[in-house]
Amino acid sequence: MTMTLAVPPRASSPRLAGLPIAVIGAGPVGLAAAAHLLERGHEVVVFESGDRPGSAVAEWAHVRLFSPWESLLDRASVRLLEAAGWTSPDPADSPTGAELLSRYLLPLAATPALSRCLRLNSRVTAVSRQGMDRTRSTARADTPFLLRVDDGNPTDVAARAVIDTAGTWRSPNPLSSSGLESETGTPAGVLTGLPDVLGGDRHRFAGRHTLVVGAGHSAAATLLALDRLAESAPGTRISWAIRGESAARILTGDDDQVPGRASIGRRVDALVRSGRLTLIDRFEIDTVEQLETALIGVTGVPTPGLRVHGRRAGESAAVDCDLVVNATGFRPDLAMLREIRLGLDDIVEAPRALGPLIDPNLHSCGTVPPHGVVELTHPEPGFYIAGMKSYGRAPTFLLATGYEQVRSIADELSGRHEAARTVELTLPATGVCSTSIAASAPAVPTPAVPTPAVPTPAVPTPTAPTIASTTPSTCAPGGSCCTPDDATCC
Ligand SMILES: Cc1cc2nc3c(=O)[nH]c(=O)nc-3n(C[C@H](O)[C@H](O)[C@H](O)COP(=O)(O)OP(=O)(O)OC[C@H]3O[C@@H](n4cnc5c(N)ncnc54)[C@H](O)[C@@H]3O)c2cc1C
Repeated sequence: MTMTLAVPPRASSPRLAGLPIAVIGAGPVGLAAAAHLLERGHEVVVFESGDRPGSAVAEWAHVRLFSPWESLLDRASVRLLEAAGWTSPDPADSPTGAELLSRYLLPLAATPALSRCLRLNSRVTAVSRQGMDRTRSTARADTPFLLRVDDGNPTDVAARAVIDTAGTWRSPNPLSSSGLESETGTPAGVLTGLPDVLGGDRHRFAGRHTLVVGAGHSAAATLLALDRLAESAPGTRISWAIRGESAARILTGDDDQVPGRASIGRRVDALVRSGRLTLIDRFEIDTVEQLETALIGVTGVPTPGLRVHGRRAGESAAVDCDLVVNATGFRPDLAMLREIRLGLDDIVEAPRALGPLIDPNLHSCGTVPPHGVVELTHPEPGFYIAGMKSYGRAPTFLLATGYEQVRSIADELSGRHEAARTVELTLPATGVCSTSIAASAPAVPTPAVPTPAVPTPAVPTPTAPTIASTTPSTCAPGGSCCTPDDATCC
């Protein structure tokens, strides 16, 4: 029988003395972790796979965040920045990803204290213990961690503790509703993340028919950008596939204290109601086929086209389009943690005690109470997952939550156990979680579903998508809107 300690022992071995604490990933939360640890006098090394700090944020630089600056700044990081003569942006403004980088993350990473800890172009490919795989228990807590780091010349680096803040941006969910990767690969016309529809990627979308898949705020942002593009690029068509019955899941309501987020929901709702986009609800995607026969787009530009196969209300269905934007969310990359004893929630793959607090099956508004080291502890002493990655597959992470997580972990690693267990965070209230807004709203007009180019099982005529679930719901502070079968929310 395997015995797992509910509370792992705290490590204090001389073998660990003098070793740095390793942070994996120099995103906002990884940099904040380093700032808190430095403030408490630790040696720190931060490994970042990209060629700059915040390299995941750089890939969505064109997106405006819904949170204002006051919710995006970590306190220890601000203290480091102010010591270097930094001026804070207006706390009430909401930056773009590019501004988050240029006004905050890059100056932070350039402070003297942090810049000497940072190792760019350094991907952590595996974490273990020196001379110990995950089956060895004796003196485990006293044995240094070993991180395999690929910086072009792979090396093993020893550390006394590890905080994994690698995010989930680089491991998007597959398009298929089963969660399985395609065996035949993904066609080039399937894009993930948040393409810059109105900027650098405009030429790909103008005059084309795009199918956006997913029911979260990333999908919503892409839909709104495509609608703006359609105003100036004739022939641009938009379809939106969701797995559930309701188009209202991204709506957070007027009482969302994150105003940018509330307005995104309202604007997408207006698009659906006006018929400017075609909503395909209850669509479970199986595969995407690259069509052999070239279709001619309305711009006259030949394009191979895609056929998205799946099921709609139990019947085979297919949708033809030129491009697919996969906005079905992200999952944590756990492969590099194979030799680490993780305690993960069965459903969302978050740390076990955190999982039930953020599981969208249990929390219709995806809210979570502020939490720290207690909820983030694994059976592996001295190892923590924080930031976006700590939420596993749950879509509702906020930076303010991540900053409090690493503040608490830093206190724990500094022997300040009481401080580590004292929560120092108030999150904004989310507002509507189920959709009482929609109870009084008119039914959404039934849009036409795109017709396949060659005979395939017909897509059943959609009924008017159900917008309303009037079940009252109380929201704990923070988070955004997701409902039980809303696994495509991100
Ligand atoms: C479009 C968008 C808008 C958002 N808007 C908001 C908002 O308004 N408010 C809010 O609070 N939150 C928002 N979020 C959510 C969240 O705050 C961000 O995703 C944030 O970037 C998460 O920070 P992080 O440091 O945990 O992860 P990331 O920013 O993803 O950083 C992880 C870093 O780790 C690096 N990395 C990955 N794997 C490895 C490895 N193996 N070795 C070394 N380095 C590695 C990556 O390159 C990356 O730089 C938004 C997210 C997105 C995508």
